[in-house]
Amino acid sequence: MLLVTDVTAVTVDDRRRIVTDAAIAVDGDRIVEVGKAVDLLERYRAAEVLDGRGMVAIPGLIDAHLHSPQTILRGVADDVPWRPYLEDFIWPIQGGYTPEDALASMRLTLLEMLKSGTTCFVDPLVHTRYGFDGLAQAVVDMGLRGVLAKIVMDQAGLAEQMGVIHPGMVEAEESSLAEAERVLQAWFGGGGGRVQVWYGPRVPREPAVACSPEFYARVSDLAGEAGSGITVHLAGEREDVPFFRREFGMRPVEFARKYGLVGGNVLIAMGTWISEEEVPVLAETGTSVVHCPQPNMKLASGVARVPAMRRAGVNVALGCDSGAQNNALDMIREMKAASLLHVVSTMDAAALTAEDVLEMATIAGARAIGRGADLGSLEAGKQADVVLVDMRKPHTTPVFDPVANLVYAAHGGDVDTVIVAGRLLMRGREVLVADEQEILEEADRRGREVVARAGVSVAPEWPVE
Ligand SMILES: [Zn+2]
Repeated sequence: MLLVTDVTAVTVDDRRRIVTDAAIAVDGDRIVEVGKAVDLLERYRAAEVLDGRGMVAIPGLIDAHLHSPQTILRGVADDVPWRPYLEDFIWPIQGGYTPEDALASMRLTLLEMLKSGTTCFVDPLVHTRYGFDGLAQAVVDMGLRGVLAKIVMDQAGLAEQMGVIHPGMVEAEESSLAEAERVLQAWFGGGGGRVQVWYGPRVPREPAVACSPEFYARVSDLAGEAGSGITVHLAGEREDVPFFRREFGMRPVEFARKYGLVGGNVLIAMGTWISEEEVPVLAETGTSVVHCPQPNMKLASGVARVPAMRRAGVNVALGCDSGAQNNALDMIREMKAASLLHVVSTMDAAALTAEDVLEMATIAGARAIGRGADLGSLEAGKQADVVLVDMRKPHTTPVFDPVANLVYAAHGGDVDTVIVAGRLLMRGREVLVADEQEILEEADRRGREVVARAGVSVAPEWPVE
């Protein structure tokens, strides 16, 4: 048994209790009790004690939208809008990836998440060429949790003919589905339940039309039968709404409802241009949305109606999106950005509070991946995914409200200790499960190689002497 003592526990439980001078008792992979340290020390005398003085304990953060292959592309495509971002930089580079490149990027992703308190993530588009098994094994080896969504698509011919998606990013219908089926079988409940496999159909969008409407319906059936989930980008860019109107005569969420892209096992990414009128459909169908504020700002994509979605009862999670688009995978900074974006865009200082965004990064993320009963809060019976954030820093002192300090003052570099499924993965910022230096060197080398191989030139704007 493990006892984390003398922390301020921000539980995010049903009552949203904050317990001062708290202890968290962990037995195996589960939390058995959260309460006052003085009581728990008495009750669990035999437990190994982990001193959490000066720390705030929070549930492991859940990044519900993160393209792991793009972490080694950090800084290759800044200050450009979404089409050249994808067409001139990301797709041509990723289209030449080997499994070793994708693995190096995944390991860098896992390391960055671990060092900033993210314990679980959703990777929305895993291409066959990335080598699914290697990526899933890397998640298991690092001790974290991951939902890996296998890319599926049916319009390879059309996609190639239009010449927008790089040929290396195109997959054929039956082989993409067969690979999804294979990895579902191979990784179902993998890593002691730490790996989940979902379907990741490509975005319904012009000009990169990769899936027919009927294909989405087919994928919806397959995911339902397998007890799996679907994550799909929807209405992320302003141009998407006229596309749906012109091609299908309907709004994006109407399209999603018609072709099976709504429901409790569906996670819509972005939803930036979903209108107020469409929001109730998401709430009624139990469809989750993942909001990525910094990428939305950086690519000038727009402002999703997050406060309105939450008011309507939609489950809205939070994501960092990508190392190329964010450019950091720091969920603490993402929480702050989410709050500030909606405050300024609505001119309402309480539009999205510190508490709101912490919910999005924890319990809402857990619900978005169908794990609300198991993850996302610190309470008895749940998986022991616990993050300790050190508040004894100049920029976090004093602490009147641990939630406000966490969201508005702290950053990922303040994360001191990470426990996942009861296993200590980082202590005093020392990573106990991987060779940090080796991961950084490999990622740096592979990042440079994939960019050079694609013939993309990346250099600072300013003259370098
Ligand atoms: Zn995305």
